[in-house]
Amino acid sequence: MIGVFDIGGTNVRVGLVSEDGELVVSRSRLIPPNADARKFLDFICAILGSLVAAEDEELTVIGAGSCGVIRDGSILYSPNTQWKSLALAEALTSRFQVPAAVINDADAFALGVYHFEFKNQFSGLCALTLGSGLGGSLVSERGLVRSMSGISPEIGHIKVREGGARCRCGGSGCLEAYVSKRALMDSYRRYGGSADILSPYDVYQAFRRGDDAAEKAFAVLGRYLGAGMSTIYNIFAPPAFVLGGGISRAARAFLPAVRQALAKGMMKGIGPRPRIVVSKMRSRASLLGAAYQARSSFGPVLE
Ligand SMILES: [Zn+2]
Repeated sequence: MIGVFDIGGTNVRVGLVSEDGELVVSRSRLIPPNADARKFLDFICAILGSLVAAEDEELTVIGAGSCGVIRDGSILYSPNTQWKSLALAEALTSRFQVPAAVINDADAFALGVYHFEFKNQFSGLCALTLGSGLGGSLVSERGLVRSMSGISPEIGHIKVREGGARCRCGGSGCLEAYVSKRALMDSYRRYGGSADILSPYDVYQAFRRGDDAAEKAFAVLGRYLGAGMSTIYNIFAPPAFVLGGGISRAARAFLPAVRQALAKGMMKGIGPRPRIVVSKMRSRASLLGAAYQARSSFGPVLE
């Protein structure tokens, strides 16, 4: 059995994946606020330990996808946590006595949708997760596409506007500063949207009722997203973009603007027009992707 984690800014999902690639069980829990690194580790390990005990199974390997910058199994920078650096793979191995692989959460999602949802459909893809932030990852037949420094490319921090909106990374004008839950809510308010509407889900419901501010807010988000995607396309030419994360469920509201901006920004002659699809796998994708990474790092590839 493969132990898997999907570690987000506020929640952690823990699960068990069978050796033939089925998610057997998973639990999502709120990460205790203000936990230091040791408390955080105790917390997530206790959940995995209880799943293993309940299923009466043996762990063979562990895979984890986590938010933040990940290098060689360590979380080096994570914007929403108390601790600044955590050697997670090493800590998991020492607690469970099995090898552990840790990757970026966007990479885990990309591996999950590439291998388990769109198997053989695309020769490669760029996965984008639209939520509190914008996660991005590229995967091809040769595996995850890495930056030249070895980490996962920080797609959310492509600059789309010189001197633009402040970003969580400390910079400004990043794609993530325009394509995120907060950006959507801010622009909905700027267009005079109702003060009673408090979440992207509500903005989407308002869009469906014909709310003008909701329509404009989604169009702005779509335009920036499409512009960012055209930059990615001009550099990497992925055959497909796969959208995931909470805001992707409102795709109908912003995809027309995405397609328009993408077509406008794409250079001619680079390759065929990319497909844009929305993942239906939700949280399963990241857990299966983490399992895939763990299996291929330490044994036979998961199919
Ligand atoms: Zn940024």
